[in-house]
Amino acid sequence: MKADVVIIGSGISGLTAAALLAKHGKEVVLVEKNRNPGGSIRQFTRKNHAFDIGFHYTGCLGEGEILNLLWQHCGVLDKVNIIPASQGGYDHFEDPATGKVIRGYFSYEHLEEELIANFPHEKNGIKTYLKTIRTNCQDVPFYKTDLPLLPFLRGYKDQVNSLSSFLDKTIEDRLLRSVLEAPGFLYGVPTRKASVEVHSLVAHGYYSGAYKVAGGGQSVVNSFVDAIRATGTSLSVNAEVTSIQVKNGAVTGVTLYSGEEITCSQIIYTGHPGQSLALLPPSVFRPAYKSRVRNLQNSLSMFAVFAESEKFVDCTTGALNYYIFPKTGEILPPQSMLAPNQRIMLMTSGAPASSKELHGHGNDVTLLSTGYWKDVEPFLKNDSPRRSPEYTAWKADITDKMVTKAEERWGAISGTLTPLATATPLTFRDKLSAPSGCTYGAMHCLGQYTPDVRTRLSGFYLSGQSTLMTGVVGASVAGLVSAGEILGLEDLWRSIRL
Ligand SMILES: Cc1cc2nc3c(=O)[nH]c(=O)nc-3n(C[C@H](O)[C@H](O)[C@H](O)COP(=O)(O)OP(=O)(O)OC[C@H]3O[C@@H](n4cnc5c(N)ncnc54)[C@H](O)[C@@H]3O)c2cc1C
Repeated sequence: MKADVVIIGSGISGLTAAALLAKHGKEVVLVEKNRNPGGSIRQFTRKNHAFDIGFHYTGCLGEGEILNLLWQHCGVLDKVNIIPASQGGYDHFEDPATGKVIRGYFSYEHLEEELIANFPHEKNGIKTYLKTIRTNCQDVPFYKTDLPLLPFLRGYKDQVNSLSSFLDKTIEDRLLRSVLEAPGFLYGVPTRKASVEVHSLVAHGYYSGAYKVAGGGQSVVNSFVDAIRATGTSLSVNAEVTSIQVKNGAVTGVTLYSGEEITCSQIIYTGHPGQSLALLPPSVFRPAYKSRVRNLQNSLSMFAVFAESEKFVDCTTGALNYYIFPKTGEILPPQSMLAPNQRIMLMTSGAPASSKELHGHGNDVTLLSTGYWKDVEPFLKNDSPRRSPEYTAWKADITDKMVTKAEERWGAISGTLTPLATATPLTFRDKLSAPSGCTYGAMHCLGQYTPDVRTRLSGFYLSGQSTLMTGVVGASVAGLVSAGEILGLEDLWRSIRL
C-alpha cells in the first residue's frame, strides 16, 4: 500500500491529524493497533452500559473556541451534540474533615465570588491566582485564536515557575489550596512538580466553561471516523506498526505486525514518545535524544470503577463532577501510602444521550482516584495477561472500598452503586499502551523536556498528549500542529479560523 502520510494511532490526536490532512488533499493511512479506534476516548460496554475511559468533560468547545473550530473544520461538529454545563455549572469539591463544599464554577466571575465568599480573608490571594491564570493564557493562540501560532509554539517549552511556590506565597488556607490545585488531576502532575504555566493552560479551559458530548467520547470517535472515511482515507484497526523504515535520513514507510508494508514519505506517531524508539533503526537519533525520550517521567495513573447507579445522576443540573479531597496532606502527592479510596476521588456520570439512546437504564457513573505504578508493583512478578488471584482479590477490595466511600458521601444522589468493571494502573498500561499506566502521557512538568512535534528524522513527527499539552484539548491541538508541520502551520491555522 502507498500513502503520503501514515498516522500511527487513532486517538483524538491521530483522528484530528488524519481529518485535517485528508481535507487538505493528502492521501492518509491511519493505523491503530487496538481492535477499535479512538485510543483513550473510546468507550467499552458492560451489561448494556457504555463507559467512557478518557473523556468525561472538556473545556474549549464553546463557539469560536479551539476544539469547536477544529471539529468544525474536520467536518465533525454537525455530527455531535455538545452539552454545555448549565449556566452556573460547577464541580463539587468536598472537604472530608468538615463536609464543607466549595463549588468550582466553570466561570471566572462565579468562581471568584464563591471563593471570596468562603475564604474572605484570602481575597487578595484569590484575585492574584485567577489573574495569573488569565494573564498566562492571554498570549496563547489556542485561547486567543486571532493570534499566530509560530511565536507561541517555538517558545512553548518555557515552564519555569513552580505552582507550589506560587501557592505558598499566595494562599494560606489548605482547603482553598486544594480547590486551586485540583485541575492538576486533569493533567496528572503532582502539585510539587507542576508549573504555573501548564496549570494555567489547563485550568483556564475549565474556568472558562465545561462541556460533555452526548454519547460520550465514542460519538466523537464515530463522527471522526465517518468524516475521515468520507475523504477516502483508509483506517486499519488491529494494525500495529512494528517498524519504521528509513533511507538516507528520511522515513520511507512502515511495517505492520501482519507483515504488510505501507510506503510513505511522512509519518505522524501519536503513541508515547518513549515507545517510538523501538520502531526506528537505532542509529537514527543521537544517544542524548534517545536517553531524554526514554527517561521521560510519566503522568500519574488512576483507579477507575465503572458502576451502575440506582438513581440517574443528572450532570446537566447539579454538579458536573463530585470530588472529595484526602483527609490530610497534599491532594496530588508524588507518591501516596493512602489506599485509593482515601486519595482525591471523584464521581462523574455518563453523558446524557449515551444513557437515553444507547443503553437500558442510563444510570452509569465512574469513580476515579489517583494511581501510582508503585501500587501495582507487588503484582508484577507474574506479569502476564492472565492476572494472578492475589491481584484479582486486591482489585476487588479496592473496588469495594471506593464504592463504599462513594455511597457514603454521594449515595443521596446516586443511590447504591453496582460495580461492573475496575481499571488499575496495570489495566491502563495494557489497554491504552500507556507506560506505567500513565493517563496523560509524559508529564508536562517543571524540569522535564517536552518532546517537540518535529524531530531530526526527515518526515517523522511526534504528536499526541505527550508533546504539547494533555487532555482531549491538548491532544487535539497536537494533532493540529503535527498536520500543520506537513501542510504549513500558519496556512492551516488561518483556514481553521476562517
Ligand atoms: C481514565 C482517564 C480519564 C481521562 N479523563 C479526561 C477528561 O475527562 N477530559 C480530558 O480532556 N481528558 C481526559 N483524559 C485524557 C485524554 O483521554 C487523553 O489526553 C487523550 O485522549 C490522549 O489522546 P492521544 O491521541 O494523545 O493518545 P491516545 O488516545 O493514547 O492514542 C494513541 C493511540 O496510538 C495507538 N498506538 C500506539 N502505538 C501504536 C503502534 N505501534 N501501532 C499502531 N497504533 C499504535 C494506541 O493504541 C492508541 O490508540 C483521561 C484519560 C484517562 C486515561
